[in-house]
Amino acid sequence: MSEKCYMCDMPGITVEHVPPKCLFPELKDAGINLRLNLITVPSCEEHNCKKSDDDEFLMVSIAGILGNNSIGYEHYNGKIQRALKRTSYKLLEKVFLKKRVVRLGNENKFIEVLWGTPDYKRLIDCFTHIAYGIHRHHFKASFSGSTEALLGFLHTNIPNPKVFKAFIREKAGLELADKTKHGDNPAVFYYQYTDPDQFGIYLVKLCFYQNVDVYISYMPSFSEKPFHIAFELMGLGCKTIITLGDKEFVFNSAVELDDPTLQSGVDGEEDDR
Ligand SMILES: [Zn+2]
Repeated sequence: MSEKCYMCDMPGITVEHVPPKCLFPELKDAGINLRLNLITVPSCEEHNCKKSDDDEFLMVSIAGILGNNSIGYEHYNGKIQRALKRTSYKLLEKVFLKKRVVRLGNENKFIEVLWGTPDYKRLIDCFTHIAYGIHRHHFKASFSGSTEALLGFLHTNIPNPKVFKAFIREKAGLELADKTKHGDNPAVFYYQYTDPDQFGIYLVKLCFYQNVDVYISYMPSFSEKPFHIAFELMGLGCKTIITLGDKEFVFNSAVELDDPTLQSGVDGEEDDR
């Protein structure tokens, strides 16, 4: 056997879990087996050991997110809190570039919520690795090309974040509606693939604790560069409306409000000149 690493051309001499095993609570903590048939791919030594730090980072970043199911919540309050205490919360410093703890509720009953700026670049990197691993597992072939990640659960500073996220969610939701959810521990993790579009681009949805959703698109190296006039306009900051089924998504509407001349142009009478 000489299978290649899921990330590079080196021999895959070790076994790598995707997503990392530490995201899946242990039997003794969860009371039920949430580690059924965990997904593994062959990995070279470099791509495997480089990741153990990242695995912990990812676990601390996403297990405690508000809105997760009870499995994620218990995991965060059990194993992860123990890990945090062990490191005197230094681990948290690594996860959040800026943070504060917010208490919700009254004195007797409250939950502590972390409110902060996560290391966005590192998160993207972690999820991209998972997307490569899942691709290898699902299609029995390594992915070659470029990927783009959208973290549906985070608020970011990219332009049009809210509308864009709602749009991707809606579009992916339509395309994924009849697609199988893969993964034997769906309460912790599952994934779904769309069919390739006319450009050969396809998308995976990674879902953790039934709440943390990540969308990653794959553009194979052989595919054409896509061109969509609506997205080009959005990039230029023009007000753009995209209709999907019976829903309308308005991009860059703030630009229009800031600029009365544009506003009147929209209402505008016909220009006959
Ligand atoms: Zn490698």
